[in-house]
Amino acid sequence: MARYCDAVCKLCRREKLKLFLKGDRCYSDKCAIQKRPYAPGQHGPTARRGKYSEFGVQLREKQKVKRLYGLLEKQFRLTYDKAAARKGKTGENLLVMLEQRLDNTVYRMGFARSLAEARQLVKHSHVLVNGKKCNIPSMQVKKNDAISIREKSHAVAFIQEAGDAAARKGLVPGWLVVDHKAMTGKVVADPTREQIVVPIQEQLIVELYSR
Ligand code: SF4
Repeated sequence: MARYCDAVCKLCRREKLKLFLKGDRCYSDKCAIQKRPYAPGQHGPTARRGKYSEFGVQLREKQKVKRLYGLLEKQFRLTYDKAAARKGKTGENLLVMLEQRLDNTVYRMGFARSLAEARQLVKHSHVLVNGKKCNIPSMQVKKNDAISIREKSHAVAFIQEAGDAAARKGLVPGWLVVDHKAMTGKVVADPTREQIVVPIQEQLIVELYSR
């Protein structure tokens, strides 16, 4: 499957927003958006900063969400179509579906320092869902699902550190309960919009795709 392989800090600088794609570095003063708070590329520092058109605002919002959850256009659009087919507000459904992806759940539980790291844990079969190995990052978790790190994988040092770091930063949202020592967690509810703390106006994405 295609994936983005370029520098991720460029994405934050383009969106003028910290997307927290690099784990601990994002919380340090090495963060690129602090050192170079302008758009990436040759003309970034001198670029004319005009106002975005209505389309531009909607496009940027969509790109922001895609980049936050590490998806490319095709997979994002497929998720949007599924969200639109569900009952309720499409924008909210979309964010809930993105939040319930297995890679994001592992990240929110604090078993990895970044979403990319969480995705790698899943892809390398370190994660169990209800006791069974699952290596599909896009899998949707449901209420009462038990997520854990495989016992053999407990020795992987960065998982331990990641758990500690997440606990310290209080990142675990209310729809999950986690035991960092045992490296297990449970989905206790579906996430509500209030629990999804991403700075996004999802209505703009719906408007963009309804054009
Ligand atoms: Fe974004 Fe993190 Fe890079 Fe800062 S360090 S620009 S928050 S990915």
